[in-house]
Amino acid sequence: MAWVYEFSQGNKDQKDLLGGKGANLAEMTTLGLPVPPGFTISTETCRAYLAEGGEPEGLAEEVSAHLASLEEAMDKRLGDADDPLLVSVRSGAKFSMPGMMETVLNVGLNDTSVGGLAARSEDERFALDSYRRLLQMFGGTVLDVDSELFSEALDEAKRARGSESDLDLDADDLRALVETFKAIIKEQTGRDFPQEPREQLDLAIRAVFDSWNTDRARLYRRQERIPEDLGTAVNVQAMVFGNFGMDSGSGVAFTRDPASGEQGVYGDYLQNAQGEDVVAGIRNTVSLADMSDIDKTSYDDLMGIMTRLERHYRDMCDIEFTVERGKLWMLQTRVGKRTPEAAFRIAVHMVDEGLIQMDEAVLRVTGDQLALLMFPRFDDSAERTLLAKGMNASPGAAVGKAVFDSDTAVEWAARGDDVILVRKETNPDDLRGMVAARGILTSRGGKTSHAAVVARGMGRTCVCGAESLDVDARAKEFRVRDGVTVSEGDVISIDGSTGEVFAGAVPVSDSVVVRHFEGEKLDDDLAHAVARIMAHADGARRLRVRTNADTPEDAARARRFGAQGIGLCRTEHMFLGERRELVEKLIVAEDAAGVEEALAALLPLQREDFTGILEAMDGLPVTIRLLDPPLHEFLPDLTELSVEVALAEERGEVDERAATLLTHVRRLHEQNPMLGLRGVRLGIQIPGLFLMQARAMAEAAADRLAAHGTPRPEIMVPLVASVRELEIVRTAIERVIAEVEEARGVTLDIAIGTMIELPRAAFLADRIAKAADFFSFGTNDLTQMAWGFSRDDVESSFFSRYFEHGIFDVSPFESLDQRGVGGMVEMGTTKGRETKPDLKVGVCGEHGGDPLSVHFFDRVGLTYVSCSPFRVPVARLEAGRSVL
Ligand code: PEP
Ligand code: MG
Repeated sequence: MAWVYEFSQGNKDQKDLLGGKGANLAEMTTLGLPVPPGFTISTETCRAYLAEGGEPEGLAEEVSAHLASLEEAMDKRLGDADDPLLVSVRSGAKFSMPGMMETVLNVGLNDTSVGGLAARSEDERFALDSYRRLLQMFGGTVLDVDSELFSEALDEAKRARGSESDLDLDADDLRALVETFKAIIKEQTGRDFPQEPREQLDLAIRAVFDSWNTDRARLYRRQERIPEDLGTAVNVQAMVFGNFGMDSGSGVAFTRDPASGEQGVYGDYLQNAQGEDVVAGIRNTVSLADMSDIDKTSYDDLMGIMTRLERHYRDMCDIEFTVERGKLWMLQTRVGKRTPEAAFRIAVHMVDEGLIQMDEAVLRVTGDQLALLMFPRFDDSAERTLLAKGMNASPGAAVGKAVFDSDTAVEWAARGDDVILVRKETNPDDLRGMVAARGILTSRGGKTSHAAVVARGMGRTCVCGAESLDVDARAKEFRVRDGVTVSEGDVISIDGSTGEVFAGAVPVSDSVVVRHFEGEKLDDDLAHAVARIMAHADGARRLRVRTNADTPEDAARARRFGAQGIGLCRTEHMFLGERRELVEKLIVAEDAAGVEEALAALLPLQREDFTGILEAMDGLPVTIRLLDPPLHEFLPDLTELSVEVALAEERGEVDERAATLLTHVRRLHEQNPMLGLRGVRLGIQIPGLFLMQARAMAEAAADRLAAHGTPRPEIMVPLVASVRELEIVRTAIERVIAEVEEARGVTLDIAIGTMIELPRAAFLADRIAKAADFFSFGTNDLTQMAWGFSRDDVESSFFSRYFEHGIFDVSPFESLDQRGVGGMVEMGTTKGRETKPDLKVGVCGEHGGDPLSVHFFDRVGLTYVSCSPFRVPVARLEAGRSVL
């Protein structure tokens, strides 16, 4: 088993071993593209290094051997005094983590070899510029010196030159800067910059391994759900130089626009610069189109290669390249990150171009992306004041208070403010602030800058390179050309789809995707793309998709969004508002007659509720759940009411109503209401309550039949743990239905089923199925009961520690704990169907709209998932993807 692989040994499918960058460098090498030679130290080596706390045995020898063949291929020796080979050392994990880990360029330069490089290149300025870059990068990343110290010294040198650009520094300036940088390193680390080339290389490799575990890398992985134990590969590659003068340069490019998905190449080029300059937004770049004026030959070569790569990968690629004295070199390619809009459009365009099939197009988009596309956008017709226009780096409409540093962004967001992080340019240390912010605005850098790449990855709105803004982070303000100043806390609006920045809060309007789902006929490429993808997913999926809705309006919307019925109508919302008083009467009733009276008053209201919903879902199944929450939720708060009564008493007043209510609130008070008198237990304790609901449902169905509708109500009993509970309630409900049938002269077909939301119910599902026409897993409660986590408290309490420790990387309330809670779902389904092979089984907890959970439910053979109306399209898409 080797630790190190030559580029020519691998291919693009070996990302596990070689990391993304290494695998694709290998692929390009095999394709015969101009890739500077080099080798990749595998991710396995990194894992061994991290586990053992040091370089694994044999690594040093393997590096020596591969370095020797690289030296032979280049006919140069690393750090040679006369004609030095220089190498870049770059990280490259399986999943791209832009800017999160280390890169060191120009390894091999020292006080002697810099002279050799100057002599060979006949360009002293270039050699010194390369050396100062090595000192800066090596100092910052390998030796852990605060990078600000280098940037400040560089700024100081530019100031002394009276220039804004590093290009104006001459050889003398750079020689002085090299000395300054070395002094900084000595002062900060207590040691000299290592002059020995091999030592530089080994330390740089080690720094890349170590960078896997920096705070920012860990945070990024958690954010992107990248596993902690993958490790990174290290790519060591012969340097080519984009900073060789104006006939050289570096660039990044996409084979299509990563923001909109529009056909046509897209990218940034920077003359006389190394790759890091482009991404960091240090100088403003020119577009690829302009590159054709600067260096037509390299531009044409690049276009040819990009076309080839896109056809080869059958996907949009992003590319890093360098031109050294008129010769084009490819430094990286990969399937490029893109916005949700671009993902849908590119997938469908590629079908039309014959590159992929529809199945693959559906697999290339995700439910999460679709959900992002359903967010509102700024209302075009609203009045607004344009402050600036930058690049549309990551779409969306974000409104928030301007903040100028990550700490403030995190702090303000934690207290509930929406914030927009405004920076000149972002660097990886800004990640926390970007996570906390609604949107990101920068004044420098292109669509491939750090801010843009990371924001797109996270689905954050981003406008970058708004050059007319003068961002002053120290003064916590930015100035707009015509004298307007925006200070910390001022509200701004940024449009990531157009690149516009507005003063104040601009109102937002519906997305085209939502308008399409709502049935509007639109001549819009994105809407067409979404329609085609959805149609294909619908054609493929097994799972049915229902919705959780408690009003006719929600039901109707969900139906337009493609819902095939209601999987959960929670009736507790129907007991709030003005009806609270009736519920109160029910609770304080002194005798059976009082209870009857209160229920009789509720009956017509409930009937009306159900009629509306059955009408909106006419012809489709509507699962109505009997009242679930404990009754005290409908009463005033115990403490508040106690204070109110005590104060009244102090004043010598008597409030009979409040005093009586207080008695009942005390009576119903429970230490653990989630484990108390709720669900089926309420139905057994106060039978009239469930029966009133069942009667209202049966009467509503009869009314709908009379109106020539096709009502398909289903009654669902919550929180059942024992088949006896269900039998008792079921028998009583059946009697009520029979009474309504008799009274109205109709036959009603009303299924009676149960929720499975207690572990006991999952274990005894075969028994419970005897009394149930269907099951619906309440995975919210099932998660709560399985883990013993209070669903109302834990997420804001100790979960962050759980994430830190990797106990789970996503809340089990958000994405199903497949092993634990999922195991119960699978067992409950199997056992239920042992009793009734055709048992319909659904899920109606929040997980019904979560992509990963949907795939799980499909795998274990559920009949349907049910989720909130806005998640219905997401579930449809994911149910299709699960099959394909
Ligand atoms: C559940 O527990 O998953 C469920 C759907 O019911 P509720 O969220 O209303 O408790
Ligand atoms: Mg529940």
